[in-house]
Amino acid sequence: MALDADTRRAMLERVERFIREDVAPEAAAIDRADAFPRALFAKAADLGLFALGVPEAYGGLGRDIETPILLSERIARASAAFSLSFNNTTDAAVPILDAAQESIKRRYLPAIAKGAAIPCIAISEPQGGSDVASIRTVAVRKGDRYVIDGRKMWCTNAPVGDVFTVFAKTDQAGGHKGLSAFVVPAGTPGLVVGPAEPLIGLRGSPVAEVVFDGVEVPADHMLGAEGDGFRLAMLTLDESRLHCAATALGVATAALDLALGYARERVQFGQPIIRHQAIQSLLARRASELAAARALWREALARLLADHDRPASAYAGMAKLVCSELCMAITVDAVQVFGASGLSRNGTVERLMRDAKAFEIYDGTSQIQAAMIGKHLERHGLPFV
Ligand SMILES: Cc1cc2nc3c(=O)[nH]c(=O)nc-3n(C[C@H](O)[C@H](O)[C@H](O)COP(=O)(O)OP(=O)(O)OC[C@H]3O[C@@H](n4cnc5c(N)ncnc54)[C@H](O)[C@@H]3O)c2cc1C
Repeated sequence: MALDADTRRAMLERVERFIREDVAPEAAAIDRADAFPRALFAKAADLGLFALGVPEAYGGLGRDIETPILLSERIARASAAFSLSFNNTTDAAVPILDAAQESIKRRYLPAIAKGAAIPCIAISEPQGGSDVASIRTVAVRKGDRYVIDGRKMWCTNAPVGDVFTVFAKTDQAGGHKGLSAFVVPAGTPGLVVGPAEPLIGLRGSPVAEVVFDGVEVPADHMLGAEGDGFRLAMLTLDESRLHCAATALGVATAALDLALGYARERVQFGQPIIRHQAIQSLLARRASELAAARALWREALARLLADHDRPASAYAGMAKLVCSELCMAITVDAVQVFGASGLSRNGTVERLMRDAKAFEIYDGTSQIQAAMIGKHLERHGLPFV
């Protein structure tokens, strides 16, 4: 059960205060230091943010898909990096919630709900990001255990992670049907996390390589049955694409708002630059496009909540594609409206522009979203008729 409307409203108000008073003042420093903000994470945990996606039976506030997605957008207006670190914890718990045995849920979910354990998801590899079926990491059954060997890349929150959901081949000839998923706690011998990759954007939301060198887990740490991995990865991605779209919308809204504020104040040729038709038209078009993208995201979310079917997956892909590409375009335009000061590291819009690029890449690149949507159109027609 998700939160009732009054409880959710009260929580959103508390979170708005947290964003305003704690996240926003830290955002530039998080980016500059490229350091995971542990104190903010702890405050978010105290507010119950990590309990939102977890059923009450496991110490959460109820399995609520909608509220964390709405919060991702609000947090991203202040700090996209913190928004990603927050929403990745929700996404990384999805395979555990969906497919873990009862004993595994009881072992890991209460700590995740409290924010005491940070879950991560390890799908991508050095040779295979978009092509999930090409995963080379293997899990071989030995008696009542699985032994996992392979290398994962770009795992969000890995340097601070406590529980890894790793996708590995249990049948190497089986393509995507040979994929299985496992829960591996940090500290398991053979699991080594590399240093955080220095990215141009989303700095402070650490991504890193994770090596599995003869990592042994009990067989009950498999999520679902052998071969369930691809289904679990796709299930997780439908939800995480709406988180990504939310984060992109938050950044785009912040960038457009800053650009608008500047255009109303900045005077050139004797009048505020918003009165120059080129700037006025640019802002008007972007505001209209952003309103349309926000409506698409809401529709995609409503469909996912109503019925997690094929059209809902297509909608999640469409929302991710449209919102991430629009965010990139709007942040570039925001820098343009600010002129030279838009490029200054002492301003904000340059950070938003650097952050925006990743939304077109993680959770499936724009090309992969388009390919998925295209496949849906070919097989099933338009998802809205
Ligand atoms: C900030 C960030 C966080 C991330 N977090 C995680 C995480 O927590 N866990 C995780 O497992 N991974 C994570 N990733 C990895 C991410 O999911 C991959 O980067 C993404 O799937 C793309 O894979 P790739 O980088 O290997 O690019 P590739 O797959 O090598 O693609 C390279 C280029 O080729 C294009 N391309 C590839 N195949 C096709 C095709 N069939 N048709 C058309 N074009 C194609 C792509 O669109 C892209 O432009 C993260 C990445 C980033 C940047």
